[in-house]
Amino acid sequence: MIDLHTHTNFSDGTDTPTELVNKALASGITTLAITDHDSISGWDEAISALRPGLSLVPGAEISCQTTDGISVHVLGLLFDPNHVELMNTLSKTRENRHGRMEKIIARINEAGIDISMADVLEQLSDGATLGRPHLADALVKKGVIASREEAFTQMLHNNSKYYVSHYSPSPEVAIKLIKEAGGVAVIAHPMASHRGRVISSETFGSIINSGLDGIEVDHRDHTPDEKRELINLAKEFDLVMTGSSDYHGNGKLNMLGEYTTHPKQWEKLESKATIRRVVTA
Ligand code: AMP
Ligand code: ZN
Ligand code: FE
Ligand code: FE
Repeated sequence: MIDLHTHTNFSDGTDTPTELVNKALASGITTLAITDHDSISGWDEAISALRPGLSLVPGAEISCQTTDGISVHVLGLLFDPNHVELMNTLSKTRENRHGRMEKIIARINEAGIDISMADVLEQLSDGATLGRPHLADALVKKGVIASREEAFTQMLHNNSKYYVSHYSPSPEVAIKLIKEAGGVAVIAHPMASHRGRVISSETFGSIINSGLDGIEVDHRDHTPDEKRELINLAKEFDLVMTGSSDYHGNGKLNMLGEYTTHPKQWEKLESKATIRRVVTA
């Protein structure tokens, strides 16, 4: 089983990379990508935890924003971690997430809810990428709300009055950097419409033209109709189709390996990386 999209506590997942690797082995996964938001900090620990039977695909889920302000996630896999411009872009995004969190907190405080940056940072593992899920955890701890899920549906969703965006590259720039770094680029959950506005077909065309390698088709946030539309696009533009769990440990309902990528599709995707960067024990 091949699962190409998972998170650890180096971003908003709740498992350590070691726990993730152990759970992947126990679930019968043979190829696992680690794709923390805007970070590669979990790679080393995941590689150290590897055992025979599991191959690791180093990656990251890069937060992007289109010129018309729509949030897009691009999975970069198998890229060179020493590519300076790509690493600088990720670190700029990570830093910007702190100022953005301060702004969200200020809006929540204005609504009379007592929560501070210190409360939120307490929920963040050392060196992890800060995100709304950490704010959700802080609100749960304070007794303001019952769970991450409820925090997102009631307060923290993209159309909420508390929502503030953060700096992020355009998807076209992120793809260019991933490709320059020798990796492959897959657009994550492109049709997840319940999260907020999704990209127009013009934007999708521009993203494909900038060198996109694959589309995440099988994902719990896609309806059957959305999947059919994505399969047609993938066929039309000869793009790889992936399926993945977007596992976040206890942070989300998504189960490891709930959607997977067909071995033939993975073979095609992996062959597009400039050098073989899959890690085995
Ligand atoms: P941010 O990166 O700070 O904009 O926060 C977005 C992240 O929150 C996404 O990557 C999701 O993993 C997570 N998220 C979105 N909706 C939910 C939800 N309903 N429950 C738990 N986590 C969520
Ligand atoms: Zn996440
Ligand atoms: Fe995502
Ligand atoms: Fe994700």
